[in-house]
Amino acid sequence: MADTSFDVVVIGSGPGGYVTAIRAAQLGFKTAIVEKAYLGGICNNWGCIPTKALLRSAEIYHYMQHAKDYGLSADNVTFDIKAVIARSRGVVKRLSGGVEYLMNKNKISIIWGEATLDAPGKFTVKKTEAAAPKGALGAGSYTAKHIIVATGARPRVLPGLEPDKKLVWTYFEAMNPDKMPKSLLVVGSGAIGIEFASFYKTMGADVTVVEVLPQILPVEDAEIAGFARKQFEKQGIKIMSGAKVTKLDKKSDSVTVTIEDGKGATQQLTVDRVISAVGVVGNIEGFGLEKLGVKTERGCIVIDKYGKTNVPGIYAIGDVAGPPMLAHKAEHEGVICVEAIKGMNPHAMDKSLIPGCTYCHPQVASVGLTEAKAKEAGKDIRVGRFPFVANGKAIAQGEDQGMVKVIFDKKTGQLLGAHMVGAEVVEMIQGFVVAMNLETTEEELFHTIFPHPTISETMKEAVLDAYGRVLNT
Ligand SMILES: Cc1cc2nc3c(=O)[nH]c(=O)nc-3n(C[C@H](O)[C@H](O)[C@H](O)COP(=O)(O)OP(=O)(O)OC[C@H]3O[C@@H](n4cnc5c(N)ncnc54)[C@H](O)[C@@H]3O)c2cc1C
Repeated sequence: MADTSFDVVVIGSGPGGYVTAIRAAQLGFKTAIVEKAYLGGICNNWGCIPTKALLRSAEIYHYMQHAKDYGLSADNVTFDIKAVIARSRGVVKRLSGGVEYLMNKNKISIIWGEATLDAPGKFTVKKTEAAAPKGALGAGSYTAKHIIVATGARPRVLPGLEPDKKLVWTYFEAMNPDKMPKSLLVVGSGAIGIEFASFYKTMGADVTVVEVLPQILPVEDAEIAGFARKQFEKQGIKIMSGAKVTKLDKKSDSVTVTIEDGKGATQQLTVDRVISAVGVVGNIEGFGLEKLGVKTERGCIVIDKYGKTNVPGIYAIGDVAGPPMLAHKAEHEGVICVEAIKGMNPHAMDKSLIPGCTYCHPQVASVGLTEAKAKEAGKDIRVGRFPFVANGKAIAQGEDQGMVKVIFDKKTGQLLGAHMVGAEVVEMIQGFVVAMNLETTEEELFHTIFPHPTISETMKEAVLDAYGRVLNT
């Protein structure tokens, strides 16, 4: 007889869900994970990973086109979009297999199908079309003492901008196009929109980005977002901020878009494809949350700092539990949730320590308060900056356009925020995340030795600059 009763069941196998299941199994819980479509969730299949594979192809293509700058020659550099996509999908396949391996290794039962909550402790799974991994449990009724909802999110749809899979894409189609568009309008300049704009521009498309707010990359520090914008515009990306799309006129293989600027003036633009990247909303509907009275707000489940909902025995983590909608936030939230269930008294989630990265060219990365937010919070601050043009490694790499900005509390010396734009910054930001997690002050950073030559030396120099001690400018 197959198992139908568990201590912990996680619904959804995205980075939040599968990591939560592994931690639950490590803690000795009899654990199962329910998945209706693809192991690894959006992140592995349609999000973080496949986009990074595409961006890597774009990066290499970019360097090949600029081979001369490095004393090399590469003539007639071309690409086959189908092969670029095939590589990205191959990476996805490898990682989905990895999640299956991890579930088996940790003796976590995979229940394949769509879960519906019947009551606290009880849920039903019904069959879906997606092919089940070997050995997975199937449709039926199950029980679990603790049910953790990790059902993720889906693209937000704006009225008048409804995706149709052909001319108006969401990230699903943008990641898997049938052919390379010659021109493209990206609506929304958050991380997802900007990554696609960067990919398609590098691959040769004519790209326009429309953002309703005055600033692109709206959650980033204004100075860093402004620096990134100049770089994108230098590459030829057209950016219209403080503007909105008011009308789409679809033809057989193109779309004429009406765009209104902040002052009421309109203009029309005809493009091959439109990507709607106006955010995501939590998957909260249709699987029993309403019936159980689980509290939701603005498209997400309301939780406390340990993932508990208002209904005993039901928890939520990841995108479905609210912003920031990032894989590493989902994972961490899940670990905290099961450790709290186990009674381990874990640290509560501190959202101010969640880094954010955008893998465009140049990259953008940040953690903590922006300058504006620090001022809004009434902090008396010191700001330090350091440009990549003064860094030996950045120049040697041919990547001298970038900067690091740090924000300290003037009174205490506490590092409040760090913001970066340029090559390798998505790898570098973690240095400041660790520093902030250890509640570091300027003193410890002055005494921290950074390897030479590295672009990370710009981090140390920005810290020194905040205190009038910068060395290399
Ligand atoms: C294009 C794109 C790029 C991104 N890039 C990054 C990035 O670089 N870095 C980053 O941190 N984040 C990135 N994200 C965000 C990241 O993908 C999400 O934050 C992350 O996937 C959230 O994980 P999750 O576990 O909460 O949910 P998801 O990954 O969404 O997984 C939810 C899973 O639940 C399953 N499910 C839903 N309902 C049910 C049900 N009733 N029964 C059974 N199964 C169900 C779904 O099929 C899905 O597999 C990106 C997102 C997109 C779209």
